Amino acid sequence: MRTMIEPAREIPVIDDHAVIVVGGGTAGMVAAVAAARNGAKVLLLERSGFLGGNIATQLLEHSAGWFDAGGAPIVGGLPEELVRRLMAAGASPGHVRDDTGYTRYRVPVNHEAFKSVVTAWVAEAGVTVRLFTPVCAVLRDTRAVSGVIVENKSGRTAYTARVLVDCSGDADAAALAGCPMLSKPDDDVQPISLLFKIGGIDYPRLLDYVAESATHFKLGVPVEQLRGEPYVNLWGFGPELRRAFADKVLSFERNELHFAGTVSQSDAIINLTRHAANGTSAEQLAEAEIALRRQVLEGLRFFRRYVPGCAAVFLSASAASVGVRETRRILGLYELTDDDIRSGRNFDDAIALGGFPMDSHDPRGSSLDATEHVRQAYGIPYRALIPREPDGILVAGRCISAERRALASARITGTCMAMGQAAGTAAALAAAGNHSTRTLDITWLRATLLAQGAILRH
Ligand SMILES: Cc1cc2nc3c(=O)[nH]c(=O)nc-3n(C[C@H](O)[C@H](O)[C@H](O)COP(=O)(O)OP(=O)(O)OC[C@H]3O[C@@H](n4cnc5c(N)ncnc54)[C@H](O)[C@@H]3O)c2cc1C
Repeated sequence: MRTMIEPAREIPVIDDHAVIVVGGGTAGMVAAVAAARNGAKVLLLERSGFLGGNIATQLLEHSAGWFDAGGAPIVGGLPEELVRRLMAAGASPGHVRDDTGYTRYRVPVNHEAFKSVVTAWVAEAGVTVRLFTPVCAVLRDTRAVSGVIVENKSGRTAYTARVLVDCSGDADAAALAGCPMLSKPDDDVQPISLLFKIGGIDYPRLLDYVAESATHFKLGVPVEQLRGEPYVNLWGFGPELRRAFADKVLSFERNELHFAGTVSQSDAIINLTRHAANGTSAEQLAEAEIALRRQVLEGLRFFRRYVPGCAAVFLSASAASVGVRETRRILGLYELTDDDIRSGRNFDDAIALGGFPMDSHDPRGSSLDATEHVRQAYGIPYRALIPREPDGILVAGRCISAERRALASARITGTCMAMGQAAGTAAALAAAGNHSTRTLDITWLRATLLAQGAILRH
């Protein structure tokens, strides 16, 4: 590959902050509010034009991970405050039953209202928000990070901070800071998908068909209980998908899809598409976007031709862009293991709990048969949020230090938000007392989190 030397240039330093959060997504919006509520001057940098991350961009079927397999709550504090706020704004019904039996409860959201509610919540906490602002370099010396360089419509500028919290999903800031990574660019990671929404569904007709063909679905409740209900949740359509593949209506083989109805009882979000790609390669992301947009149109034809009650459906929305499940993960002071999750292990330095199944999608397979249910909640240790080096940087969300199947559970949004609260709180405490993020008093951090509603014991 040809290379060149980029000329050095002088750039303005815009402001100094106690805490900078990189990425205003699932973990980052909560991390920013947590840091601000704990007294820090906080800057939140987001590369897209809105907050909310994957929940907002991807039309997620629902936010999950809030309860353990027995139905006990495992996420509280700021994430739960956000759920209450969404409910008050009519943007979510709160925790509703999971009709498929996959998890106990889930939180469907109206994605458009979600963006507005989250933006107001973050602004009211006193966080300075810079949208359309990707972080493109991290300032550091041999010991610790000290700020970031961003490049946006205003040009290239710098911001300094005592502590950085990387909630970019892809560990962008950690990678730019030179933190060691667990993952390699050519790892066989989970596939990229693009969710879409269909409107014009005749639900009574569709549910008659589900009742007649119950073996095609994973039903957690009798079909009669679904009639007239909003948020109908269906896993299945295997025989229909196989026929469509044999007929060449679908160019990709699938054994199941996820259908998540909304409050309207005439539309549903569809999780069907998949493409194997590295989500940190710009080239592969573009290829994924092209391939998945084609799959969306095939999916629409599939519903019209093979699913009773869906003959007249239309595409009412699609994700803003492709959704990435798995990319870079830091090598932290602790690596959360698959066995930690299987055994429901807790830790003295646990700062959040998880309990969602290990939801591992095979990039080339046709089903979700690799899903492994988690019998009891497990702890996420603070050490999994701390890169081996340098000091002054924490991560939260799907880029924590974890084995791949462990991450397949911990990456779920409820758990990411709980980690966000922990990382933001830790950053504020470290910044205020001029403490190292690596040796922060864990008793103090846990006591602060518990006092602010977090759930750390099961
Ligand atoms: C297709 C799909 C379906 C899913 N379904 C569900 C589901 O039904 N329920 C569920 O709970 N979870 C689901 N998940 C998992 C879940 O959405 C993610 O694992 C979770 O949202 C990750 O949270 P995060 O905060 O780490 O990342 P994100 O929510 O993606 O947030 C990262 C943020 O950082 C920003 N960013 C990235 N790089 C930079 C940069 N350099 N500078 C500034 N900003 C940057 C991004 O724009 C984004 O806003 C799904 C995931 C996918 C891909």
